[in-house]
Amino acid sequence: MTRAPVPVAVVAALVVLAAAPAGRARLILISVDGLVPERYTSVTGSPLLRDLAARGAFASGVVGVWPTNTRPTHTSLLTGVTPAMHGIVNNEPLDPERRRNPAFNWFAREIRVPTLVTAAEDAGLSTAVVGWPVSVGMHADWLLPTFNWTHPRDAHLLRTLSTPGVFDDYERQAGEPFGWPPTDERRVNMALLLLQAHRPDVTLLYLGEFDAYAHTYGLDGDWTASAAREVDRQLRRVLQVIDAQADPRTFVAIVSDHGFIDVEHAVGPNTLFAREGLIELDEDGGIRSWQAFSHGTGGSSLVYLGEPTDEATAGRAGDLLETFARDERSGIERILAREDLAREGADPAATFALAMRPGYSLIEDTNRLFGNPYIAAMHGYPPERPEMRASFILTGPGLEGTGNLGVVRMTQIGPTLAKLLGITLSPEADNPIPLASR
Ligand SMILES: [Zn+2]
Repeated sequence: MTRAPVPVAVVAALVVLAAAPAGRARLILISVDGLVPERYTSVTGSPLLRDLAARGAFASGVVGVWPTNTRPTHTSLLTGVTPAMHGIVNNEPLDPERRRNPAFNWFAREIRVPTLVTAAEDAGLSTAVVGWPVSVGMHADWLLPTFNWTHPRDAHLLRTLSTPGVFDDYERQAGEPFGWPPTDERRVNMALLLLQAHRPDVTLLYLGEFDAYAHTYGLDGDWTASAAREVDRQLRRVLQVIDAQADPRTFVAIVSDHGFIDVEHAVGPNTLFAREGLIELDEDGGIRSWQAFSHGTGGSSLVYLGEPTDEATAGRAGDLLETFARDERSGIERILAREDLAREGADPAATFALAMRPGYSLIEDTNRLFGNPYIAAMHGYPPERPEMRASFILTGPGLEGTGNLGVVRMTQIGPTLAKLLGITLSPEADNPIPLASR
């Protein structure tokens, strides 16, 4: 039997199909620090974000992790697990004596489980990371991490921590130095350069200025509103480039890490510990030694013991906090014990956590029990508070008109994006969000 020749057109079509990376998705994940879901669910929100949400899928709110602070939450977004599991348990390392340079958690090596970036790299996908929190040393093909920028000379440090060549490419194309500090405008410039030059399979971009305005002026402040419009302008620049590339494999996810609550009162429980001898101060008011310390600012704190197994001190500190909580002025809504912390997926090394009522914000000061807050709005309140809800919008092939996914968990977002990319996170990661239309 002779086999009929395969028509040339069919052969050509098969070749095209084989050459196309069938099923291999491309992802641009953009985090807007502090973006609240009302920006795309409310008629008074952003037309750009409302249009994006209408084109694909969106969550009416994202319930975060404990604490609802930038670095733990961004790491949960990438890993699908709680801070207790991924290891970035707060914005700053615990350091009551201030022995270190005042510093955030910066280092990707301290993340204990696979991230979207490491999983993508392991699967042979190319990755670019611009400004993402806790990204110093992240194994991406093209990396501009976020790091300390207290002095203009830190620009040199940022260049050193970035993938060799990316600053040179930027400066060749822009005709000027990358500049200092690393503003949203500059981060977007870098992301656009990488998107156009390399078309990475996975691109992460972080915009941080809206958060700074919301902290300083409150969520309803005029300057915050203009910062929100500036976010739209930056997002529009990115979307224009993505649209021009017209790559049908492309998913765009817009996420955030927490909301905000305006604050009127500052409360410093370490002052109580100092008065009761659980913190010893030096002659300059610095901490010489400590047996109990409330770590964290904003709507919650984690309370640590110098000796975590010292049950006598745990009892003393617990009694002090309970008595204090009965004082209306303390603003303490509830005290979490170890078993509550375990249920929340918060740092297992802490002995207690304090959760504040709206309007009250914790400070770490040892000489100010009550006072005015340093800033206008804070996060860090318990993740179940509606005001703390974060954002999630997802567009891409097969998602047209999916609509409202309801309220989702922050730990579901990484697994959802991993599934689109055909990669896997750790076995402990949360379940992906069901995307019915796919
Ligand atoms: Zn944040």
